[in-house]
Amino acid sequence: MHAPSLPDRSIEGYAAVTSHDRLERLRELAAALEDVRILHLNSTATGGGVAELLRSIVPVCDDLGIDTDWLVMDADDDFFEVTKAIHNGLQGNGPRLTSAMKSTYRETAERNAAELDAEYDVVVVHDPQPLGMLERLADAMPDASILWRCHVDLTDPDDAYLAFVSEYMDRVDHAIFSRSVYGAEIDAPTKSVIHPSIDPLAPKNRSLDEETIAAECDRLDPLSFETPVVSQVSRFDPWKDQFGTLAVFRRAREAIPELQLALVGGMAGDDPEGIELYERVAAEAVDDPDVHVLTDLPDTTVNVLQRCSDVVVQKSLREGFGLVVSEALWKQTPVVGSNVGGIPLQVEDGRNGYLVEPDDVEGAADRVVSLLENETRRTTFGANAREHVRDRFLLSRQLEELLETFVEARDLEC
Ligand code: UDP
Repeated sequence: MHAPSLPDRSIEGYAAVTSHDRLERLRELAAALEDVRILHLNSTATGGGVAELLRSIVPVCDDLGIDTDWLVMDADDDFFEVTKAIHNGLQGNGPRLTSAMKSTYRETAERNAAELDAEYDVVVVHDPQPLGMLERLADAMPDASILWRCHVDLTDPDDAYLAFVSEYMDRVDHAIFSRSVYGAEIDAPTKSVIHPSIDPLAPKNRSLDEETIAAECDRLDPLSFETPVVSQVSRFDPWKDQFGTLAVFRRAREAIPELQLALVGGMAGDDPEGIELYERVAAEAVDDPDVHVLTDLPDTTVNVLQRCSDVVVQKSLREGFGLVVSEALWKQTPVVGSNVGGIPLQVEDGRNGYLVEPDDVEGAADRVVSLLENETRRTTFGANAREHVRDRFLLSRQLEELLETFVEARDLEC
């Protein structure tokens, strides 16, 4: 297990985007949690939404005076092959789950659990990867409250994978889902819903001066914002449907010949499918100078791309939440997204973007074109988008709900 390095964050920094009442409430909750030690466990420090969330939540909790650690599992490719299969199976398309896969999973999880030497009062297990640590963890910390935070889209899971994860639920005190429908088939003692959020102070989301924007635009050359740009920022993952986005782009280009597409993807440390899919997408686009397939961009460059794109597309087939949607909306860029998972929580059809069915390439292309052809609508949608994210998907709201959950788990007064 290892502890990732974290940025500095101060709760005061959020005053401009957080109501006075909410800041006060956060301080009250933090005071109630004064003697509570909290541990977050997951399987990657970089790439993907969970790492993105913890990179902000953990330092802010520390600043509030809550003793919070984040530990990341150490594992090899065999383990991550299995856990990606579990992720895919829970989202409804996994390979056959074999006993060899289960053994690989359990051995790595137990080896990581054996390395834990400190004691905690609350342990938050993110996603399925660390669930295999729970037996040892419950023995080592019998008084700890164990929370499972599931970020996966559980709309239609494969039975074998649902059963596998369910085996661990008798070790869990409380399960947290990103939408209530995801928890329907999970038998945890208590359950709640907390929507994820973006950090407005993170380099990926903060406001930027004109000089920085211009420098980052240069970095993206030969992509040019002189002609319309559509982009999608996502791990290279079959669920993110980069090939579908490419098809939407090609159709939209029939109406707008100078259109460009940026397909940006990072490689999450716990996702072995990334490289292969990246290579396939890059090969498909190699002869098309208006398609830019980019990897591992710095956060400020992602910020500029989301900010300067005319339309962002999120053509996922399943999507636990999809932080990238709020990231784009916060920067006042309308989003055309699939009507799956967490996307409809964020995209308000006809107000800040459009929702389309995940297999509707033609419908998505029509929506992209109608936005590209109407600057006034893009501006109105962009203003609505920022307000929607300000109301519902910023860090302080999520933090309040999370701290309330910890207070309840420890049966504290607040
Ligand atoms: N991300 C990034 N660079 C990339 C691709 C993704 O920084 O090339 C970030 C993205 O900005 C977001 C996170 O990774 O903060 C992805 O989270 P999301 O919830 O959208 O999807 P997940 O990867 O967790 O399925």
